[in-house]
Amino acid sequence: MGIRTGKELLESLRDDRRLFIDGKRVADVTTDPRFAGAAQSLAELYDMQHEPALAERMTFRSPTSGERVGLSFIEPRSVDDLIRRRDMVKIWMDASCGMFGRSPDFMNVFLTGLASGAIELGHKDPHFADNIRAYHARVREGDLCLTHTLVNPQVDRSKPVERQDKDLAAKIVGETASGIVIRGARMVSTLAAYANELLVMPSTHLALNKEAEPYAFGFAVPADAPGLSFVCRPSVIHQNAASVMDHPLSSRFDETDAMAVFEDMKVPWERVFIHRDPAVCNGLYERTGAITQIMHQFSTKNLAKAEFMMALGFAIAKTTGVDAHLHVQGMLSELIQFTEFTRACLRASEADATPGPAETLMPAAMPLWTVRMMYPKMFARMCEIIQLVGAGGLVAVPSYAELEGPAAAAVNTYFQAATADAPQRIKLFRLAFDAAVSSFAGRQQLYERYYSGDPVRLAGALYTLYDKDPHIDRIFGLLDDLEARQNADEWAPPFASAH
Ligand SMILES: Cc1cc2nc3c(=O)[nH]c(=O)nc-3n(C[C@H](O)[C@H](O)[C@H](O)COP(=O)(O)OP(=O)(O)OC[C@H]3O[C@@H](n4cnc5c(N)ncnc54)[C@H](O)[C@@H]3O)c2cc1C
Repeated sequence: MGIRTGKELLESLRDDRRLFIDGKRVADVTTDPRFAGAAQSLAELYDMQHEPALAERMTFRSPTSGERVGLSFIEPRSVDDLIRRRDMVKIWMDASCGMFGRSPDFMNVFLTGLASGAIELGHKDPHFADNIRAYHARVREGDLCLTHTLVNPQVDRSKPVERQDKDLAAKIVGETASGIVIRGARMVSTLAAYANELLVMPSTHLALNKEAEPYAFGFAVPADAPGLSFVCRPSVIHQNAASVMDHPLSSRFDETDAMAVFEDMKVPWERVFIHRDPAVCNGLYERTGAITQIMHQFSTKNLAKAEFMMALGFAIAKTTGVDAHLHVQGMLSELIQFTEFTRACLRASEADATPGPAETLMPAAMPLWTVRMMYPKMFARMCEIIQLVGAGGLVAVPSYAELEGPAAAAVNTYFQAATADAPQRIKLFRLAFDAAVSSFAGRQQLYERYYSGDPVRLAGALYTLYDKDPHIDRIFGLLDDLEARQNADEWAPPFASAH
């Protein structure tokens, strides 16, 4: 089949999924006002793949069918492949100002990384490696949209999952001839409202004991699988807005987050990738290389988002003339530094790429880890800078609809700024409010803090995996050398003769 159109995506979402919000089941995500805006934005992303000017940059020929498929499914074999994939991701991310963190390319790259490292899933039973490769091909050829859940629900984080008093985390409760049976819950399923499939994989470190085995699994199911429900957080879209111009980001890019609940859901064996195997779960993404590939994707998202926030900062500051002040220039230069730092790390990861599994090429991990660790702080600061530069204007500007309302004459006069007329100024400041002040902005900040894991434990993981010994050896080598030279009277510091 190959790449889908937006229309085909929207049709595929009119299924039997059990999606709940505000105490009710959603009948149709493509028309429900809490979901329709983001569904439409997602459809526009799919349509971009068909635009003649973009098709070559966004797709490649499937290695199996020869159809054009999305470049986010490519198993990179050269630096050029990494650059082409980055270019494709950037096109989608620019279209969403980097605010659609879980646009389908995220899971496409992640799943592709797992497929490249499939051998890691098949040590005990090669069927599981075959299953993930077959699933990857199926998602690629059908251009399916995936959501995923890796984390057990927050019940009692002081105990490992197999020792919880309230046993609510998803686990295997049985096996049949045709597959496994899953009961319990997983969080957080971003994009659940718009996904065709849910991929459930491990994340938290599991104990290597019998009790932990029921929690050690990986599988995929259709979003409307019997026994699966998604319970969504409330929407961040202002439902009574007079104009979409008042909420230009939240009205289009609220990708939604949900808890996935499994009530004795059956998963056929061909969709099972890990079965009661904590040893396979722990460290899986490092061993397959999937984490490095996905860091390359989300660093590209981070670049697009930093460029957008920087552009916003420049535009606001110029409009009201505050860029005349040195400290404002200082804040705007911070936005430049964040952008160029992220770009440099991304490019370095490509330049220093190394061989990965199955003849793939892996971007260098350390520049991407650096973005992963630093970006949450950088993004929080970007929002703060927009607030500090926009200041009271962010809440003083009215709804865009006032430009045509009974107060239009006054609004068109008094909402001008130094280099903008009133419509321009209102549009710009409403965009800035949505990006840095609104509940959408708050959710974006939370997303950046946590979407790739808990920063505390990630910092520990980075420290553990970083090759520290050469650096320690260098320090002791320097000291030994100094000591040897001193003992040989080769080197006498000035203070030695003074005594
Ligand atoms: C907006 C958003 C979207 C997300 N989307 C997805 C998604 O699509 N798919 C998905 O799988 N996940 C998603 N996540 C979930 C994300 O993976 C988790 O939030 C992240 O792994 C942190 O886990 P937690 O939220 O359970 O926090 P917790 O583990 O409960 O941590 C809360 C606090 O307690 C501390 N803490 C807890 N346990 C320990 C410990 N053992 N050692 C040290 N400190 C500890 C943490 O440092 C932190 O400060 C999303 C999260 C957010 C916020």
